[in-house]
Amino acid sequence: MNRLLLFAAPSGAGKTTLVKSVLATYPDDFSFSVSACTRPMREGEIDGKDYYFISPEEFKARVARNEFIEYEEVYQNQFYGTLKSEVQRIWALGKIVLFDIDVKGAINLKKLFPKEATTVFVKPPSVEVLLQRLQRRNTETTESLRKRIDKVKIELAFEQCFDVVLLNDDLQTALDDTHAFIRRFLKKE
Ligand code: 5GP
Repeated sequence: MNRLLLFAAPSGAGKTTLVKSVLATYPDDFSFSVSACTRPMREGEIDGKDYYFISPEEFKARVARNEFIEYEEVYQNQFYGTLKSEVQRIWALGKIVLFDIDVKGAINLKKLFPKEATTVFVKPPSVEVLLQRLQRRNTETTESLRKRIDKVKIELAFEQCFDVVLLNDDLQTALDDTHAFIRRFLKKE
């Protein structure tokens, strides 16, 4: 069966680290769904690997051409979306599509693919710890930090909509839990 594995979490919960670790450990099983997005590229990011960085105009044109399975205005004026072509490309390789996606996007994709999709909620220990992590990451302006924190509070309420919850308090424990879950997930195939 074609499968999707979706990691979602409030911003700063550390899901990107977990997703990268899964990809590095199981390159033959999973391939990352590279989303299109309209936010500016951060230092160290690569166009076509982390995201397809496109202009808001191009994003709108692609929406009009029906190229997305789902998309969200994740933050004000910042659009992110999953391209149909990404999912098709990865399934054609016989691999599982791995997502780093926001909470709403994960819930929407689960509705579209109830059998194929497994959703994982990466849970931060607390709002205070999240705030510290986001500040330390130092990629945000005060305004974007505020936007992210507002969103975090809403997203934390959706934990019960997910198939699996992984707590990310201590990173090594979270990595161990993630890999234990992935081994079980792969056996189910
Ligand atoms: P960041 O700007 O930190 O890379 O991502 C912001 C949020 O957008 C993260 O929660 C990330 O998982 C989410 N995101 C990335 N790609 C997509 C996508 O294609 N669709 C949706 N709905 N959210 C996405």
